[in-house]
Amino acid sequence: MVIRTRFAPSPTGFLHIGGARTALFSWAYAKKHGGKFILRIEDTDVERSTPAAVQAILDGMHWLGLDYDEGPFYQMQRMETYKQVLQTMLDNGTAYHCYCSKEELDALRESQMQQGLKPRYDGRWRPETGKTLPTIPNGIAPTVRFKNPQTGVVAWDDLVKGRIEIANAELDDLIIARADGTPTYNFCVVVDDFEMGITQVIRGDDHVNNTPRQINMLMALAAHDSNLKIPQYAHLSMILGGDGQKLSKRHGAVSVMQYHEDGYLKEAVLNYLARLGWSHGDAEIFNMQQFCEWFDLDHITPSAAQFNTEKLNWLNAHYIKEANLDALAEDISARLQPQGLSPQNIPAEAGYSYVKANIHKGSMASNLISAPDLKAVLNLYRERANNLNQLANDVAYFYTLPQASSADVEKHITPEIMPAMQKLQQQLTHIEWTAEAIHQAINAVVAEFGLKFPKLAMPLRVMLTGIAQSPSIDQVMALLGQNETLTRINAYLK
Ligand code: GLU
Repeated sequence: MVIRTRFAPSPTGFLHIGGARTALFSWAYAKKHGGKFILRIEDTDVERSTPAAVQAILDGMHWLGLDYDEGPFYQMQRMETYKQVLQTMLDNGTAYHCYCSKEELDALRESQMQQGLKPRYDGRWRPETGKTLPTIPNGIAPTVRFKNPQTGVVAWDDLVKGRIEIANAELDDLIIARADGTPTYNFCVVVDDFEMGITQVIRGDDHVNNTPRQINMLMALAAHDSNLKIPQYAHLSMILGGDGQKLSKRHGAVSVMQYHEDGYLKEAVLNYLARLGWSHGDAEIFNMQQFCEWFDLDHITPSAAQFNTEKLNWLNAHYIKEANLDALAEDISARLQPQGLSPQNIPAEAGYSYVKANIHKGSMASNLISAPDLKAVLNLYRERANNLNQLANDVAYFYTLPQASSADVEKHITPEIMPAMQKLQQQLTHIEWTAEAIHQAINAVVAEFGLKFPKLAMPLRVMLTGIAQSPSIDQVMALLGQNETLTRINAYLK
């Protein structure tokens, strides 16, 4: 049997974390079994569905690399199919017309409530052998109802939650097409899962209540179609915020693309989502290839998973360290650009070597000098980063003049340190520009003035980087370049 799974989002908002995890699990299950993963957009709620939301879902899946083998199929484009199946069911007696007006149904509900009964359709238009149906009223367009079995149970072995059984007596005859002929939600899902040959329905457990109705409809279709197999169901528990409450905007980013904007690598988000409610022994860090090999539905926890930002940050730090440098440089470059910074060649006559990107438009190639190579800069900085925006921020001073706070200046660039700084500046003008030679030069000055290394390194950091923390200062200086280093020091010596 070829495995066929699907992700079936309703495009009423962005792709949120829960949806992305559902998509990831369905995708991985298909990949693991050499099956097919199908994307289906459930856009029949025309009031709430928007093209922007469709795009947001496609963007989110694209960013995460959740590629689908078939689709996207749009339910709104499948109306003809639904209508055909409706007609088939009317013809074979598994569905029937109901001419109850809204007023009649309201009155029915009212009287049931007054008697302390659970409101339900009383089956007045349900055809039965030997039963005489009411006379069809004039001017009322009928709805179509599914003829749900009235006895027995509907049961399934949920691949996450175990066996679930519902008495058919609990379910009434669901409206599957409205009076205007449009099919309803559960019916479209059933027709699609049936026509698309879905073998495993993996979805959020907010749909558990729909499943018995859907299975009954599928069984009704199967009774007339020997090819049809009822899919297996796996209902994933929901994701809670760190505080144990239902995940919502209050918890910060819930949209997947927001994580991209907030400085997360997709590898970290994927790895994090994969571990959210599923485990493989003690494995915490794994790539998607491993995940697809390992993934099974047996190791999904039925209880709710709790979102843990610290763990996501920890994974992000790991993947930033491991990232391909070219790709990382491209990402950080894009994050620097909105600040007007471009880690590219810029004109020498611009004063400070590294200037706002817009200044160097139209400059002549012969006047270009090189800004520090972003890849080399990132190689030095990524060890300490757990976020891409933070990393971009950390390295920005290589490409623009940093603004030190007056507190840092006062604290570190003291009058007492100036003679040593002056001396260092002189030394730096005629050494070979390597981290090692720079380190020796600083050491020599420190020794000459009887200082501890940080006494000179801290003011240097503030002058060069704008803050008092940086990786090893000699490496920073080596990357910043001799001209720029001296220019920045001189600005303070004047
Ligand atoms: N469209 C539904 C949703 O976005 C999912 C339906 C399903 O997976 O069966 O919640």
